This record gives sequence, structure tokens and C-alpha cells, in this order.
Amino acid sequence: MKKGKKLYEGKAKIIYATQDKDLVIQYFKDDATAFNNQKKTTIDGKGVLNNRISEHILSNLSQIGIKNHLVKRLNMREQIVKLVEIIPIEFIVRNVATGSLTKRLGIEDGTVLKEPLIEYCLKDDKLGDPLIAEEHIYAFEWANKKEIEKVKKMILRINDFMIGMFRGIGIKLIDFKLEFGRLKVNGKNEIILADEISPDTCRLWDSITDKKLDKDRFRKDLGDLIPAYTEVAKRLGILHEQSNVSAVNVTQLSSVKKKSR
Ligand code: 5GP
Repeated sequence: MKKGKKLYEGKAKIIYATQDKDLVIQYFKDDATAFNNQKKTTIDGKGVLNNRISEHILSNLSQIGIKNHLVKRLNMREQIVKLVEIIPIEFIVRNVATGSLTKRLGIEDGTVLKEPLIEYCLKDDKLGDPLIAEEHIYAFEWANKKEIEKVKKMILRINDFMIGMFRGIGIKLIDFKLEFGRLKVNGKNEIILADEISPDTCRLWDSITDKKLDKDRFRKDLGDLIPAYTEVAKRLGILHEQSNVSAVNVTQLSSVKKKSR
């Protein structure tokens, strides 16, 4: 598939056109940003790991009937995905209170929530992705009620599936961010899962030690982000156990996986 012109560059990914108007290439960068772009760096190998982890999770979600934009992984850093019209909302799903929720409401960090909590943020970097109410979505027509009902149903299934998947490998799914898009199918809009699901977009804590295996290692200056993401990939079965945990070995990921198939 030939890479065309750059259509969009985000904080962690770039979208390129292809010769097929319905498909685009999603390129995973090594850039890491936090606190609305105030903290920035490049972490060698992060994009490679996120590409593989997100591919794994989205393919598994497809298998349980969650429609999503992933068509196939092209190489170490790129995926072919369906071009969608992104709904400009970040859907935050929380199972355990931490991060901005605890700061905003004074809830004790680590409080297990009785039910998953869905929050909505407007996807707007200039405004710092502000928290919004569901009513704002309808008032400003960012999505309609039918779309949000559909998204909520999908979110709860995704959350149930991911909690189980991570629990099986000794990881607690604390919270995560999802994005959805509209796809025209036979003249009708269908809502599908888009973007990525990776340690950049989830909080993942080791079940026994509560060790952070996600982007909080960068946000909180905990270090060792690549070993943590590699640990997640290994436990998911994407990487062989014997692979050394280093950025250099991360670059060998695709050949390791191919041999294992
Ligand atoms: P919080 O609101 O506590 O900062 O984040 C809640 C969850 O959503 C975390 O798992 C966090 O990684 C994810 N999240 C929220 N906003 C963003 C964002 O703009 N980018 C990324 N990569 N993740 C986000």
C-alpha cells in the first residue's frame, strides 16, 4: 500500500492518505506528551510497542463483534485503518479512581468504583480537552443521542472484555480513553471504534504490586517506560519471554512475532 500525503498529525500518531480513498495509514510516533503538551519527549521504541499492543487489542475486540477501524498492521510502525469521521469526544472509562478524577473531586486514589464510570471530554488540545456533560454533546451537536447510546453499549462491552483480558495476565485495568468515528456503510453512518488502545491510553497496574505499566511512568517521571510497555506486550503474548527488555530489542518485535506464527 503506497503512502500518500500527510492528512493529520497528532501528538503520538500521523495519518497518511493512501490510493484507496476509504483507507488511511496510521503511523505510531515515539513522541510522548503530557499535561496538554507542556511536557514532551521522544522515547525510542514506544511507537513500535503501541502499534503491536493496539493491533492485538483491536483484533481481539473485532473477534467479539466490536467493529473498529483496524484493517491490518503494515509494519513495525504503521497500520492500515478505515478512514472515519472522528466524533470530537474523548470517552474516558474508569474502573478505579485515580488521575484527574481524584484531583477534581477529592476521591481517594485507588478507590474501586462499583460501576464503570464514563466521562466525556471535548477533543480540543487548545482548550486542554475539557470535561463536558452528555448534554453538551447534544447541545452543540457533536453527536446525537442514538450515537451516544450505541457508543455507551460498545464501551461497556469493551471494558468487560479488556478487564478480563488484562486480569488473565496479572494486570488491573484502572482506566482508559477511547475514540469513536462515523463510517458510511451503504449510505448510512455506522459508529466504529477508532484511534488506539495501548499503554499510552490506558492505566495498567500490576495486579499484585500495583506497579504502573503505562504512560504514567512518563507523566510522573517514574522512568523505565519501555520496559513497562514491553512487559505488557510480553504478558499479552506479543513478545517472547526470552526477549530482552530494551529499546533495541523492541525494534526486532515484528520479526519475532512472524517467526512465532
Ligand atoms: P485522566 O483524566 O485521569 O488524566 O485520564 C484518564 C485515562 O484516560 C487515562 O488512562 C489516560 O491515559 C487516558 N487519557 C485521557 N486523556 C488522554 C489523552 O489526551 N491522551 C491519551 N493518550 N490518553 C488520555
